[in-house]
Amino acid sequence: MLGFENQFLCHVTNIRTLASVGKIMTTKEELSSEITAVGDRIRNMKLEKASKEALQPHIDQLVTLKKKLDEIIVAESKKEFDRTKLETVLRRRFFYAPAFDIYGGVSGLYDYGPPGCALQANILQLWRSHFILEEQMLEVDTTILTPYDVLHTSGHVDRFTDLMVKDKGNGNLYRADHLLENWLSAQIKDVKTDAKLKEEYSYVMTQVDNYDAKELGDILRKYNVKAPESGNDISEPEPFNLMFKTQIGPAEHDSKGRGFMRPETAQGQFTNFKKLYEYNNERMPFASAQIGKSFRNEISPRAGLLRVREFTMAEIEHYVHPNKKDHPRFREVENVIMSFLPASEQEKGVSSTIDMTIGEAVRSGMVNNETLGYFLARISLFLIKIGIKKERLRFRQHMSNEMAHYASDCWDAEIQSSYGWIECVGCADRSAYDLSNHTKRTGERLVAREKLDTPIQKNVIKPQFNKKEIGVIVDEIENMNECELKELKKSLETNQRAKVAGFEVSSDMVSIVETVETCYVDEYIPSVIEPSFGIGRIMYSLLEHSYYVRENDENRCVLSFPPVVAPVKCLVVPLSGHPSFPPFIYELCQLLRSKDISFQKDDSSSSVGKRYARNDEIGIPFGITVDFQTVKDKTVTLRERDSMSQVRIHMDQVANIVASLANATLSWNKVTETFPAFVEQEIDN
Ligand code: AMP
Repeated sequence: MLGFENQFLCHVTNIRTLASVGKIMTTKEELSSEITAVGDRIRNMKLEKASKEALQPHIDQLVTLKKKLDEIIVAESKKEFDRTKLETVLRRRFFYAPAFDIYGGVSGLYDYGPPGCALQANILQLWRSHFILEEQMLEVDTTILTPYDVLHTSGHVDRFTDLMVKDKGNGNLYRADHLLENWLSAQIKDVKTDAKLKEEYSYVMTQVDNYDAKELGDILRKYNVKAPESGNDISEPEPFNLMFKTQIGPAEHDSKGRGFMRPETAQGQFTNFKKLYEYNNERMPFASAQIGKSFRNEISPRAGLLRVREFTMAEIEHYVHPNKKDHPRFREVENVIMSFLPASEQEKGVSSTIDMTIGEAVRSGMVNNETLGYFLARISLFLIKIGIKKERLRFRQHMSNEMAHYASDCWDAEIQSSYGWIECVGCADRSAYDLSNHTKRTGERLVAREKLDTPIQKNVIKPQFNKKEIGVIVDEIENMNECELKELKKSLETNQRAKVAGFEVSSDMVSIVETVETCYVDEYIPSVIEPSFGIGRIMYSLLEHSYYVRENDENRCVLSFPPVVAPVKCLVVPLSGHPSFPPFIYELCQLLRSKDISFQKDDSSSSVGKRYARNDEIGIPFGITVDFQTVKDKTVTLRERDSMSQVRIHMDQVANIVASLANATLSWNKVTETFPAFVEQEIDN
């Protein structure tokens, strides 16, 4: 053991390590903000109708800056990322682990340990304040068990499927699109594949999400793709429904008790639309939100938290007039620059992104409307705030086949990790699909009404019933939408009869009349814009983006979470086991508790350096050390994780300072300007 004086001298800061990483980050940040500034300048000059000659030098400058930034990003991504090493840390520090592993585990199920739990809770807390509080959204908590009828109406029973192929020899099952993707990427990587074929495979790779069952089957057959483990032939792709079936109640054969574990949190929000609308004093537009578990019986769960069978979702349903999708706060975000991968580019086989402001993206029509654009920008700001790297985030538009038939536009926020670009947030304009279908099925009118200042003339189409015998299908016809009524009208007029819900109706039972009415109230089924977040995917991406190894020391892994999401905010360590330190440690812990700051005390016998290193692994951003100076004047040292720099500060102030650092209202730079630096060597033994 070292002598007390030696320990005192030896403890703390080692500025050597992160210096170069810090520098790269600063240069990147500087470049990004310079790019934004030059971009703004060019936009303003364009608005002021500057000449081409005047603009050219600024455009050249922008191109050079972007090139420099790209070079840094490419250089960084080429630095070997060791996933196994990160996974070892995550397992050892119990961020998460396979569920029931003492029974051999179940694929696609994971348990979160203390740091994983705290990280998720902090991400969700930030999500609540960034979305729910910011927009006064109406939060709900609806049930997971969902009746068959609800999910049949929403289309999940018939269409919530993935395509699956079977190994014809041993019966193993594979997700067809993943099988094709893996095969293509192996061929592309293979040096023996000729250049022309590589080009073809790369193009097909960009189209995989766009193929239907037949097209996927044709391609798999064309390339003679076999089952990967056995080399056996595979079957034609077949749909497999991803929902977990269950029986609600004890009567096994009671069809009313048929149900599912919900595959998304959205339907519970739609079925409560009327109550939410009334709660909101019948004001439009508004949004509901829900955080909760969803369940999907994935065919082949893989890639850790990225494809699991039970996961936390955070979903927003923003209800808006179908013809008024401009957003009152769009101006606040219109200058946010984002990376877009539009459908038109993907359809040409292009996978490089275009950087532009969300304002330009909406004005050019690439993003369908302001409300959708507003949410895309807010999603981008949120992800960057929690620590996702801007240059590893892109927004990819769904291609025509990929998009649900009812959606008018859909974008995925994709985050790059060692698994490639993964969809972490979906953001779709679902039009009036869900509310119309639930209205039709239940007869409960899920509509909004707006009083009109000036009455309007509206074309109205409605049924007139001539005979009482029509009985059972009156409701069915009354709940038809405009298109369906027009269809029925056409059929009755041409054939004098038509089929409705399996029953034959004739023109003497019902006629469909079209009139023009004066309306004082605009009644409509709202469109829904739905941002849908998978929290586990975001969390895993954040873990990869935050992870680095200290330079010159392979074994010192750091998770550099932004303080706001860090699982534990502060580490408290006595310099040694000296008996004069515990009362100060006790007092410090009380002070931190009184400010609601999560902290961890590490009074083990290892050196201070080792204790810091151990806690860098769970990403604790700040550390307080009690040393011999504390005993003399009640000052302690405060250390920042990434720079490892330290300041000396009085105990009475330190909890307030850590609280402000932890909620990002104070920067570490400001702290180093205000308090004297404490520079001593941090040692490991
Ligand atoms: P979707 O409704 O399919 O657009 O999914 C919404 C979000 O849920 C996605 O953006 C993902 O982040 C997440 N998600 C979907 N399926 C899974 C899964 N099997 N495991 C983890 N997250 C998922």
